[in-house]
Amino acid sequence: MKNSNKYVRMFSNCIPVLGRDKSVIYDLQRKQMFNIPNDLYNFIQLFEEHTISEIFELCGKDNEQVVEEYFQFLTNKELTFLIDKDELELFPKLSMKWRSPAKISNAIIEISETTYPLFEKIVAYLTALGCEYLYLKIDAPKSFLLMKNIMEKLTTSAIFSVVFETPFNKGEKITDYEQLIVENKRIETIFLLSDEQLKTSSSKILITSPKRFVNKKEYFFKINISLFTESQKYNTYFNKKVFINKEGGVLNAPETEELFGNIARLTFKELEAVVDSEQFQKYWSINKDVIDECKDCELRYMCVDNRVPKQSKGGNYFFTSKCELRALN
Ligand code: SF4
Repeated sequence: MKNSNKYVRMFSNCIPVLGRDKSVIYDLQRKQMFNIPNDLYNFIQLFEEHTISEIFELCGKDNEQVVEEYFQFLTNKELTFLIDKDELELFPKLSMKWRSPAKISNAIIEISETTYPLFEKIVAYLTALGCEYLYLKIDAPKSFLLMKNIMEKLTTSAIFSVVFETPFNKGEKITDYEQLIVENKRIETIFLLSDEQLKTSSSKILITSPKRFVNKKEYFFKINISLFTESQKYNTYFNKKVFINKEGGVLNAPETEELFGNIARLTFKELEAVVDSEQFQKYWSINKDVIDECKDCELRYMCVDNRVPKQSKGGNYFFTSKCELRALN
């Protein structure tokens, strides 16, 4: 048999993850996933120690056709390659180490009469903590003007990406939002909350009913190396996040309850001490691998679920509501 003494290797960025009912191969470079049966996941584990001919032998004559189909599938999807024994060491696995120099990487801010006048101070504090991603919730009649002003204030800041969530107010024109996006490359998305049937030519504007806000899988599932490696040890929603509510209150996230002072009164050093504290980072390390409902879900390294995990007396983590995200995928 041709190549029978060769070993099969998955490309290091193609990583199979076992789930309870099915598995998934994450392609971290092409940012896509392949659903596979658990049998194929177990089959891939044989690659570690066995040559192609050994694998055929281990699986037995009866399964010859299935083995061929599995190899064919992996080759067709460009997930594997063949190597000789003496080349095995040349292809190490992708490192799962994840590090970020930022103390805070992303922030959610409710823009209000209290927080808007403090916006420059907030951005200065956040960027000093390493934050590059802002999610700004605006609930004001002149939201478009506010957005324009905010983008002007950010012109020379180190903020890399901005997402707005705002109602579409009477008298506003969608073309103005489109123009704002054209003029500001840092705007990643504008969620326009409206029950009207609006149309836009911009892929960065997402029109959604306020009652059914965000129910698309691409908002909760992201396949990339950074998220995959971060989720090995951290909760990718709560980790390095800060939330500033409309009163200026500082929290880890909108879903958490503990208040850590008010941004109007905190000095930078005090805010830094807050985000360094164990209490503020309470949820950061509770990754999906330790949460009951998620630990055997094949989507756990791409999922940015925002539910707050609770801890039982026995020490395990759980959610009080049922996952609605799996159904989106
Ligand atoms: S929240 Fe749902 S989709 Fe996400 S990892 Fe947990 S069970 Fe899976």
